Amino acid sequence: MTNGKADSTQSSGTAGGQAAPATAPLNLEALRDITYGMYVVASRKGNKFNAQIANTVFQITSQPPTIAVSINKKNLTHEFISDGKVFTASSLCEETPLPFIGRFGFKSGRDGNKLEGVNYKIGVTGAPIVIDNATSYVEARVIGQTDVGTHTVFVGEIVAADVLMKKACMTYGYYQTIKRGTTPQTAPTFIQKKVEAKPALARWRCLVCGWIYDPEKGDPDGDIKPGVAFEALPENYRCPICGAPKSQFEKLG
Ligand code: FE
Repeated sequence: MTNGKADSTQSSGTAGGQAAPATAPLNLEALRDITYGMYVVASRKGNKFNAQIANTVFQITSQPPTIAVSINKKNLTHEFISDGKVFTASSLCEETPLPFIGRFGFKSGRDGNKLEGVNYKIGVTGAPIVIDNATSYVEARVIGQTDVGTHTVFVGEIVAADVLMKKACMTYGYYQTIKRGTTPQTAPTFIQKKVEAKPALARWRCLVCGWIYDPEKGDPDGDIKPGVAFEALPENYRCPICGAPKSQFEKLG
């Protein structure tokens, strides 16, 4: 936007034939302004299923309808999509409990069947479509993929899609600020954050997933009201995201 006056806060730019700056800021906080949703991405390898949380699901074209998903090469889902050449993505609603996200986001399918006890249906590609907490889903066959170092971007042609319920879907921002969820290091959007210490009741951080118990906020998903000190939590208290016990928390500050 311009008001006709020179912008004295900008010393350089590309407009008006000016040279590009020799140095540029690299403030990765800017990436936080890119919005995402929260999805369960599932695939199959033969008759085996796996699913994981992903926020990097995005529509590419409308004619034909295609979507892409960025998956870490270390994840079992990556192996399954590479092999099965199909994937599904279920959009999660805002009310999705943290433990449900934790089941798919902070546990590996190599350690057990993540779909056990979860409602899903089989799509036309034979891949599972997670129904629980899902507002809608898309199902795609892989038509291309790009190696981007730690991740692969899989592009899929949509072969099925449907709306399951009319509810607000969870954005990545909602997950982080309202649900106070954390991001595994294997996620494309992972950024190492500094955690500041606070006085009063201490906050405690889960060593497994990085989730922080803040006594001022409690743990709504675990029915812990605000104002309860970590030390006062029941001995069988578990991290709402990854299920780690109290002994796996460290005191901050
Ligand atoms: Fe945890």
